[in-house]
Amino acid sequence: MGKTKKYVYLFGNKKADGNGAMKALLGGKGANLAEMTRIGLPVPPGFTITTDVCTYYYQNKKSYPRELDSQVKSGVEFIEKIPGKKFGDLEKPLLVSVRSGARDSMPGMMDTILNLGLNDQTVRALTRLSNNERFAWDCYRRFVQMYGDVVMGVQKRPGEDHEPFETVIHDLKHERYGADIEDTGLKADDLKELVARFKALIKERTGHEFPQDPWRQLWGAVGAVFGSWMNDRAIVYRRKYNIPSEWGTAVNVQAMVYGNTGDKSGSGVAFTRDPATGEKVFYGEFLINAQGEDVVAGVRTPEPVAQLKQQMPRAYAELEEIRKTLESHFKDVQDFEFTIEEGEVFMLQTRNGKRTGLAAVRIAIEMEKEKLIDWRTAIRRVPADQLDQVLAPVFDRKAIKNARCIARGLPAGPGAASGKMYLNAERAVEAAAKGEKVLLVRNETSPEDLRGMIAAEGILTAKGGVSSHAALVARQMGKVCICGASVLQIDYASRTVRAGGETYKEGDSLSINGTAGEVYPGDIQTAASEVVQVLIEKSLPPKESRTFQMFKKLMDWCAQVSELEVRTNADTPEQTANAIAFGATGIGLCRTEHMFFEGERIVAMREMILAEKIEDRKKALAKLLPYQKEDFAGIFQELKGLPATIRFLDPPLHEFLPHDHAAQNQLAQKLGVSVDKVSQRVRELHEFNPMLGFRGCRLGLVYSEISEMQARAVFEAAAEVQKKGIKVKPEIMIPLVGFKRELDLQVELVHRVAQAVMKEKGVKLNYLVGTMIEVPRGALTADEIAQSAQFFSFGTNDLTQTCLGMSRDDSGSFIPAYQELEIVKKNPFASIDQSGVGKLMQMACELGRKTRPDIKLGICGEHGGDPDSVKFCHKIGLTYVSCSPFRVPVARLAAAQAALENAKPPAAQRRK
Ligand code: ADP
Ligand code: MG
Ligand code: MG
Repeated sequence: MGKTKKYVYLFGNKKADGNGAMKALLGGKGANLAEMTRIGLPVPPGFTITTDVCTYYYQNKKSYPRELDSQVKSGVEFIEKIPGKKFGDLEKPLLVSVRSGARDSMPGMMDTILNLGLNDQTVRALTRLSNNERFAWDCYRRFVQMYGDVVMGVQKRPGEDHEPFETVIHDLKHERYGADIEDTGLKADDLKELVARFKALIKERTGHEFPQDPWRQLWGAVGAVFGSWMNDRAIVYRRKYNIPSEWGTAVNVQAMVYGNTGDKSGSGVAFTRDPATGEKVFYGEFLINAQGEDVVAGVRTPEPVAQLKQQMPRAYAELEEIRKTLESHFKDVQDFEFTIEEGEVFMLQTRNGKRTGLAAVRIAIEMEKEKLIDWRTAIRRVPADQLDQVLAPVFDRKAIKNARCIARGLPAGPGAASGKMYLNAERAVEAAAKGEKVLLVRNETSPEDLRGMIAAEGILTAKGGVSSHAALVARQMGKVCICGASVLQIDYASRTVRAGGETYKEGDSLSINGTAGEVYPGDIQTAASEVVQVLIEKSLPPKESRTFQMFKKLMDWCAQVSELEVRTNADTPEQTANAIAFGATGIGLCRTEHMFFEGERIVAMREMILAEKIEDRKKALAKLLPYQKEDFAGIFQELKGLPATIRFLDPPLHEFLPHDHAAQNQLAQKLGVSVDKVSQRVRELHEFNPMLGFRGCRLGLVYSEISEMQARAVFEAAAEVQKKGIKVKPEIMIPLVGFKRELDLQVELVHRVAQAVMKEKGVKLNYLVGTMIEVPRGALTADEIAQSAQFFSFGTNDLTQTCLGMSRDDSGSFIPAYQELEIVKKNPFASIDQSGVGKLMQMACELGRKTRPDIKLGICGEHGGDPDSVKFCHKIGLTYVSCSPFRVPVARLAAAQAALENAKPPAAQRRK
């Protein structure tokens, strides 16, 4: 071979060119087919065309590298030798499948074609070979249908509810049998007729004949698989899961095995453990006399895999063996496809099984116990952002007792969801965009429904099993889902669902319990998850909740490796207590302005803002002081010595004033001033660009009495609580600093007030004064600012706004388009823009440390609860992240994973 590049990797007969580690080049499917072949599992022979060819294809006007043709020819020859069949042969024709397979699995997003190589001649040979005419024509019928759809583009047109080929089948069944009989009830003659009608449909829709030449078929299919990398649903999927489009897909060409030869054959999908709950049971489903596509298409509802034990005991025993081999080899739950041909088992795919958040936790904990993995690996096995599924609400126990269950199905995605039902994805998306909570209800879902599934709170289907498209997607997205609730009679035309003797219209409310698989009419009240019941509500004893115990074990492991601390954003004692229960180590952001909105406080606040003279302002501030003090005291008591970063007043004053005339009138009366005066002040305070206006430290600098009051409230509260014997660690944070002098003036003020309070109360207080880094100038001059700041906290919301020059509140009109155009991969307000904003942060850290080596560094933006951002914060060496109380567990897990990902070599690690 020498210099020619290898584009084709062979597998078969216990040997393979590739292996399981080569997912980037061979795709997940190709790499694992090679790996399974190597470990001796029964895999039909085949070859993989690499993802490099996909890249080449898109860079070279959809053409292939020159060497590919001969390599594919040798690949086909390699396959031919194993079963002793020949591609296109009129005696013993070899048939193949052509399958997509990206690096990460993208279930149902791209296309696969089965039974390729059949034509009007070879179908006769297949009849003779199998001695089964019905089988041969069933294969041909399927092939023409898939090829027509995937390669030649004969598909559902906008507005149509049915696939055109399915309509042809439906019509023929009704013509000949007067009913919707099962596909397996179609006879050879019916199938011949279907092939003829399919060909005619293809000709009519495309103007082209269905190709008879197997090589033309093969290249057509290969092109279609590469083409499907850029289809709409694949693009939507990649965007959701941040899969770069550069990765490309591989193509697998593999000898066919047949699950549709009769009652001794079948196809199935199975998991080595239950992917919804995590329980260690052999889990899955199969269909007798079917090809693989039938199982996942959700058109026939398959039977549970346990059933095979009776029907095909030998095959079942072999599958149980395979199940064990897979787990002990891959050390993770496997999701695999198999086909049984006349009693013989074949493996067609395996991959790490997608699982719900709940299952991820259970599987990680139990595999550690079984010594399949160590505890560090267990931490990495739970996707951090899925951990909040463990905290998600369930239906209220009492409410559910009184509810009437109208249908049952397979519990495919645990949790509780209520919403208005929609029977079509587009309408579900529209309703969700208007702010409705929606449930997507369908007979079965297909990849076209992805947008609707993303928009819905939950998904309910009448057909299909646990490996149907709906179940697969729900599992991955963490959606509540029930599949195969077969009593539901869904009528797309009249937009109604019949169940339990009643008819429900689109837009009516339904509730689904994806943990139990039960459907209820109306909205049902939800209750907190078990973890929340134990930790927050304290209404459930820890011993009674297995979920809680697993959660706790995971969190304890995290604590052993994490370097980043996780604090919380909290403004009240209650939020503080909740966050601490979840393991927060302090407050990273206490927004004092939130304290000014409640009850009577807002009146005093408005009085302060409306004051023209400094004395009047001081008078109003004096009214606010006790409120602030009380709030801080409550928080300090909850913290019991943990640090609290308290940010001084930040938003533009305008935000506190009433804007409509009636409210202004009311305020004027309360304060005993004229309405005109109120409305004039509102007008004065109006700003063209409040985000960049009179706010942040600018307020405390121009009206220093505001900062003075706030400082006094903090220190008086601290003194009070400390006198009770509780430690207090306030960290005062000055917002929006861009100039060192801004900070200097405020720091001076804070120290002055602190001295005064300490003297008055006769106590010594420990406190820090620092700043938020949230404008680029602050980051750029961080070395200067660090001379006065004892800590930095990155306010990444504003830093993102000011670094990108994008207003967060206005970005909704263009960010989705930016994501579509791949200008930004993720919404920068949800996940830190690491190469832009992140660079400023990194620079500020370095500059800050240069001036003050022990400077405390944290982040308090919304990003503190986003796992990718948490990992970034770890990398640049922050001391802590801060996020909302219910995100604390997610951030703790992400922090632990970051520490493991960046860990030193294992030897060094073990000593820890
Ligand atoms: P997907 O990624 O959508 O699961 P696959 O490439 O795995 O697509 O194939 C779709 C279905 O066809 C699967 O059920 C698979 O098991 C089945 N299949 C693929 N190749 C073969 C084959 N060579 N013989 C029999 N069934 C096959
Ligand atoms: Mg596919
Ligand atoms: Mg598959």
